Amino acid sequence: MEDVIIVGAGVTGCLIAHNLSKKECKVTVIDKNPDVANGASGSNSAIVHSGHDPKSGTNKCKFNLLGNRMYPDLCKELKIAYKEIGAFVVATSPEEEKTLDGLIQNCIDRDVPYEVLTGEEARSEEPNLSDDVTKALSLPSTGIVTPWEVCIAAMEEAVDNGTTLKLNEEVKAIEKKDDRFIVTTDKGVYESKYLVDAAGVYADKIAGMVGIEKYHITARRGEYYILDHKNQFVEKIIYPVPSDKGKGVLAVPTIHGNVLLGPNAEFVEDKEDNETTAALPGLRKDLGKTLKNIPFQHIIHTYAGLRPTGDTHDFVIEEDDKVKNFIHVSCIESPGLASSPAIAKYVCEELIKENYPLKKEYKRRKPHIIMNELSDDEKAEMIKKDKDYGKIICRCERISLGEIKDVIHRSCGAVSINGVKKRCRPGMGTCQGGFCEPQILEILASELGVDRSTICKNGPGSEIFVNPAKEDL
Ligand SMILES: Cc1cc2nc3c(=O)[nH]c(=O)nc-3n(C[C@H](O)[C@H](O)[C@H](O)COP(=O)(O)OP(=O)(O)OC[C@H]3O[C@@H](n4cnc5c(N)ncnc54)[C@H](O)[C@@H]3O)c2cc1C
Repeated sequence: MEDVIIVGAGVTGCLIAHNLSKKECKVTVIDKNPDVANGASGSNSAIVHSGHDPKSGTNKCKFNLLGNRMYPDLCKELKIAYKEIGAFVVATSPEEEKTLDGLIQNCIDRDVPYEVLTGEEARSEEPNLSDDVTKALSLPSTGIVTPWEVCIAAMEEAVDNGTTLKLNEEVKAIEKKDDRFIVTTDKGVYESKYLVDAAGVYADKIAGMVGIEKYHITARRGEYYILDHKNQFVEKIIYPVPSDKGKGVLAVPTIHGNVLLGPNAEFVEDKEDNETTAALPGLRKDLGKTLKNIPFQHIIHTYAGLRPTGDTHDFVIEEDDKVKNFIHVSCIESPGLASSPAIAKYVCEELIKENYPLKKEYKRRKPHIIMNELSDDEKAEMIKKDKDYGKIICRCERISLGEIKDVIHRSCGAVSINGVKKRCRPGMGTCQGGFCEPQILEILASELGVDRSTICKNGPGSEIFVNPAKEDL
């Protein structure tokens, strides 16, 4: 029997598992998707918000503020990138300036670092801000991460320290019998003392399996453009002033120098409907209010994510009042990414009450070798040790065979084209995998020792990847 079963390997599930992996307790994480971070945690704005914005007194406010402060150390611990690039919230009218004043008061009340700038001062730092911007709130403690990297690294370290990860396995039923949960999936039956519901848009369905009808979750889609990293036209995150619809349409530089433009917000019936739509070009008008000279000609990709929006209008992070040891980590829409380290700490220290001792030994993950970040001498040294690090597979991002093999052979390693892409970036560049995807398929098949016809775009069971080059032969 497990001590804890976590349903969902998004950022909350992965960080809870990571936290628990430091203790002497048996944990299994189950996710219906073929990889971690395939839900909201893999398709968001990647911002570690400062905590300037959520309503006072809410869980969103409490966990965002704490999470923002925890991120730099967490990323250091996991050996992944965190950049505190800062943000501007910009106003373009007297009415918007009033909203900005409310945010300034939040910063004062919450001890969030800030500075107030005139439109001119803001434009001297960010020349592509619209001429209509009259005032800006600068939030230097705002950061960015690569969101799926947080999940992958946390889960890798958790698995290296004994956590069991079950991917491609859907929880179908949960029964509470005496003091244990019996969890039935499409592949097996598991038992545990605690059940953590971190199932994103489906957290209400998971709770419903044990008769809890506390909240209803609707998927709210957000769509984005991605600009090529040769065109970083803003240095900071640019937010418009927030409205009742949320934080609005943003420009967000990424860890790798691309810029995300988005998201919009639309409720959708189908919780799997994360395709971009004809509404996407509507973003351009909104972006034009706060920015100018937007290089739309350098869009290389589009994507959409689904926010798990609860009718609670706040995160639900608590033990259920009727079903003992059922832990809700639900209705985690934005700022869920920013809040997740603090949510995980709270769940593991306050809600899972068992006093599991800390493990005497804890294995730390090895950072990736990123050839692009090495000096010429370091590159030569690396290639001398392993010639695969000298064979470039992805021409746009300059990713070597050695880097690809590394991410396939790690715990929580890549098993699909997108799994490799997320972990070391082949296919993220200008050609979007046009040249390297057929080769990635061959490498996956050969390294995993499986037939190439079984390699999929997203993982087992997803769309089969057809290698056009080979099909023509
Ligand atoms: C467009 C958009 C922009 C956002 N921008 C930001 C931002 O910039 N900053 C920020 O802080 N937050 C942001 N967020 C919010 C943030 O992404 C989420 O709060 C966070 O990712 C939620 O993580 P999670 O682990 O709770 O859920 P998810 O990542 O959705 O994970 C839930 C997992 O549960 C699994 N699951 C569901 N049902 C089952 C089942 N029956 N059996 C097994 N597994 C199951 C799913 O497969 C999924 O992997 C944004 C969200 C979106 C969509």
